Amino acid sequence: MAAVSATDIISIIRSEIENFDADFEAKETGEVISVGDGIARIYGIDHAQYGEVVVFDNGVKAMVQDIKEHEIGVVLFGRDFGIHEGSRVARTGKRAGIPTGDAFLGRVINALGEPIDGKGDIKEDEYRPVEHEAPGIIDRQSVDTPLETGILAIDSMFPIGRGQRELIIGDRQTGKTSIATDTILNQKGKNVICIYAAIGQKASTVARVVENLKKFGAMDYSIVLAATASDPVADQYIAPYAATAMAEHFMNQGRDVLIVYDDLSKHAVAYRTISLLLGRSPGREAYPGDVFYLHSRLLERCAKLSDAKGGGSITALPIIETQDGDVSAYIPTNVISITDGQIFLETKLFFEGQRPAVNVGLSVSRVGGAAQTKAMKKASGTIRIDLAQYRELEVFTQFSSDLDETTKAQLDHGNALMELLKQPLNHPLSMADQVITLVLAQEKYFDDVDRSKVKKLQLDTISFIRDNAADVVNEIEEKKELTDEIKQRIIDTAKKYKASR
Ligand code: ATP
Ligand code: MG
Repeated sequence: MAAVSATDIISIIRSEIENFDADFEAKETGEVISVGDGIARIYGIDHAQYGEVVVFDNGVKAMVQDIKEHEIGVVLFGRDFGIHEGSRVARTGKRAGIPTGDAFLGRVINALGEPIDGKGDIKEDEYRPVEHEAPGIIDRQSVDTPLETGILAIDSMFPIGRGQRELIIGDRQTGKTSIATDTILNQKGKNVICIYAAIGQKASTVARVVENLKKFGAMDYSIVLAATASDPVADQYIAPYAATAMAEHFMNQGRDVLIVYDDLSKHAVAYRTISLLLGRSPGREAYPGDVFYLHSRLLERCAKLSDAKGGGSITALPIIETQDGDVSAYIPTNVISITDGQIFLETKLFFEGQRPAVNVGLSVSRVGGAAQTKAMKKASGTIRIDLAQYRELEVFTQFSSDLDETTKAQLDHGNALMELLKQPLNHPLSMADQVITLVLAQEKYFDDVDRSKVKKLQLDTISFIRDNAADVVNEIEEKKELTDEIKQRIIDTAKKYKASR
């Protein structure tokens, strides 16, 4: 071996110095310091980004949620079996994402987009980041097309437009989920893709929803994304964002999407759990300070896009569970202020048999009126005011027996309206059926009927009109208008039916 001369050594050292890379290499792997409660702390990863996905040596993935000087905190998308102190963790350089596409219709998936219905792999059209910027002001337009729920109490008084965010709020077991699923059933044949995102629900509840959607043929145009109460808290946290990312894919193609977040109270709780475990300081009701942003950045992504952007839309029906009807608690007030209105469901009404238990006084839709069809607008007329008067009268006439004729008539009318607003599950009413009902209600057609017979008379009259004046129904459905002539024909046909009974 030839001896290395001093000049050689100098030249080697010189080239080393010249080629020295001043950027020290960022370490892409680290080690677990501690793990538990779905959270791991990791030492040694230098350049992790907030929201980045990391992988453990056993394949479990996690998301970076906390960055400190010498360590990072991650939330696990899986069980912590096989992860222990010293386990290796690697950066992926990618943010959490979800596959999406038409092949997902009819499927049940978890928060990572993996099928959980046992029907095999799903081929995606696109892989989208779970978190995404909301469309800007220029890229949006006002709502102009109705999203019909098929529920008379909502479509007549609190109409929802495509691209609107309407909150469904109420105590436990007041029919919140039912309103959302009935709305999904009513989208059949209306070219709306429905996504039901279950967050922190019992697996059995989600299974029941899926069964119901299947039974009524609604799964064909729906996707169910489930992060149940037994899933890791990280899955529950990203579930609504993941569902929205899937929806954005369709909206960007100019299609209309309806998305149900069931429910955001449990989502806030999942986020609170993560924050507390990561040692963030708790604020009001122990939620972290940025809990408003949690839901505002989610719901801002639901929009009606401008025609230049294809005109697609995402309509959101977030659900919030209240405690003892308290709408002024922290999370309810937050979400009320973010949405364009709320459907308030009341326990008292629910137990009185008034189902859906929509409280007419406290519910509102701030933008949907612009999207209501002319026919509905004309037919719904004064129903809200009539109901408000009825409620006032009801209170102070409870104890008096001899009422004057006008008061009595108002009460009868109110009673009939309340009866008409009752609607059984899985029985959405078409727009024409709702218009017919409202026209007849305004004519006081139901007022002289015994309260228990109103519902039957309504349905019988509708089917009589459908059989004997089908063109009336067709014209309302096609032109979406209610001319005086059509109105008169509805009234005449109905009266004929009533007389013939
Ligand atoms: P939870 O707080 O448990 O999520 P929820 O508010 O979502 O409950 P649902 O599960 O929709 O309520 O409904 C509760 C019960 O009320 C169900 O058994 C359902 O069948 C019944 N129900 C809901 N709406 C109606 C209705 N319009 N007519 C008759 N029954 C109804
Ligand atoms: Mg529910």
